[in-house]
Amino acid sequence: MSAIQANLEASSERYSATFTKGHLALPPAKKYLVLTCMDARIDPAAAFGIELGDAHVIRNAGASAVDALRSIIISEQLLGTNEILLVKHTGCGMLTFTNADAYALVEQRLGAEASAELKAKNLDFLAFPDLEEAVRKDVEFLKASRLVPGEVTISGWVYEVETGKTRRVV
Ligand SMILES: [Zn+2]
Repeated sequence: MSAIQANLEASSERYSATFTKGHLALPPAKKYLVLTCMDARIDPAAAFGIELGDAHVIRNAGASAVDALRSIIISEQLLGTNEILLVKHTGCGMLTFTNADAYALVEQRLGAEASAELKAKNLDFLAFPDLEEAVRKDVEFLKASRLVPGEVTISGWVYEVETGKTRRVV
């Protein structure tokens, strides 16, 4: 067993020993979803005040609304959420590369067949050069999409990994 797996097992023992939230309902109690980055420095529950069972937390590289659309539709249409907090963050890895960089890296590291597979998928890594502009663009994308009902409340934020503060952009 890897040290990572052993940590999971030990943590599970401790957590479940005093766990009392097994009665929570499937739909988020406060009917909202948080879309944020997968960055290891973000603790959404602590930083954004999310209690267990209250909200969906969707995470991906860069807190991309385009990438998260599948989960957002499920959250809203199947599980009743009606508000979106979109939170990108300072120091995001997505500010540091372009699609061309990522495609080149895949070719170099994973080889020609992997590169061909990536090109066939025409995958957009959805990197962005400007943080606040990216927040605005993703909020605009969600507001413009017919897959997100007009009555859904949408706001855009930036979490600062340096201070732990979250500030509103839009
Ligand atoms: Zn990030």
